[in-house]
Amino acid sequence: MKTPFVTKDQLEAIVARHPTPFHIYDEKGIRENARRLKAAFSWNPGFREYFAVKATPTPAIIKILRQEGCGCDCSSLAELVMSERCGAAGEEIMFSSNNTTAEEFQAAARMGGIINLDDITLIDTLEAACGIPEKICCRFNPGGVFTLGETGEGFQVMDNPGDAKFGMTRPQISEAFRRLKAMGAREFGIHAFLASNTLSNEYYPALARILFQLAAELRQETGCRITFINLSGGIGVPYRPDQEANDIAAIGEGVRRAYEELLVPAGMGDVALYTELGRYMLAPYGHLVTRVIHEKHIYKDYLGVDACACNLMRPAMYGSYHHITVMGKENAPCTHSYDVSGSLCENNDKFAVDRMLPETVPGDLLVIHDTGAHGFSMGYNYNGKLRSAELLLREDGSVELIRRAETLEDYFATLVW
Ligand SMILES: *Cc1c(COP(=O)(O)O)cnc(C)c1O
Repeated sequence: MKTPFVTKDQLEAIVARHPTPFHIYDEKGIRENARRLKAAFSWNPGFREYFAVKATPTPAIIKILRQEGCGCDCSSLAELVMSERCGAAGEEIMFSSNNTTAEEFQAAARMGGIINLDDITLIDTLEAACGIPEKICCRFNPGGVFTLGETGEGFQVMDNPGDAKFGMTRPQISEAFRRLKAMGAREFGIHAFLASNTLSNEYYPALARILFQLAAELRQETGCRITFINLSGGIGVPYRPDQEANDIAAIGEGVRRAYEELLVPAGMGDVALYTELGRYMLAPYGHLVTRVIHEKHIYKDYLGVDACACNLMRPAMYGSYHHITVMGKENAPCTHSYDVSGSLCENNDKFAVDRMLPETVPGDLLVIHDTGAHGFSMGYNYNGKLRSAELLLREDGSVELIRRAETLEDYFATLVW
């Protein structure tokens, strides 16, 4: 069972001041989770989580994570500037972008951020834009299919690096290291992102083994000094109530074992580990709160809500499951099958299809779970829908508006009449 981090009474008080729909975030949950991650990797003296800003690009959230010791992982100019305005500077910024422009490289370099090159041709783009920095990272793509742990029902984790646009091939990364060294780079890092939203304590350890092995080889082949390894994002969260959450302490321990087995014997026991988690840091600590405004009974039964895919694109885009709690009916039996839909002129504008819920009527408040990452941030303005507000539930129980809702005038602001 998934329990919202706000009660019905709390939510009624909140909606009296802040109209639905909105996203609300749980400061306490965010901080406690960030501390668990930090503890899990405390054995590595250089460890740092760079929060993937694209997951939740909201200053109040970035500032909480900065207080917990996180840096900012950016992939665009706007994310860089937002991170800078939140106080991040120098090596607190990781710039892991792809198909990168000169302007973005210049901004990252001006801030002193660590630049992670997605492709070998970007060496020339970077050189022309702002020169090669002393500390640099390259992104690796091993190709093929990445799998983990076969069970009776298939693989625990399966993804297709060979179909992904990211990273360099094995020969390219050797060549990139040699060229960068010749151009003045002195400190090197490697990065890879092989699978997304993994629910397995084995993903990071398996990725770490690949990268630790590669680091030892690259040092042998190129003589480059590798000082950090970036395990990137990809640790998932249980969107479904029957799924089991990852155990971050077990993940940290699995990576430690790989480190002891592969890096320490290679004389690389001083390498710092970085992560760039987004979903794991925020998804469970955000709710999309929406009200049922209509019910419709045709060939199926529909609940029409005041949010739509513009507020949360994942179900429409990937068919993702997001759990829904009907507030005040948490313990009522799920006797009715509904499609929970928004008002876009698109039939995929549904938060749930054939979902069993308690009998639900207009006026009921719904909590859509696990929207803290890749939720608000993937929002868009189709059908002239305005972006919602974002609220923060503080540790003391107070609620703060951390982004106001868009107005029609915001929407019209860029138009030429
Ligand atoms: C999206 C992304 C992340 C974060 O991914 P999550 O699945 O949210 O953990 C980290 N690094 C890079 C380069 C990304 O593109």
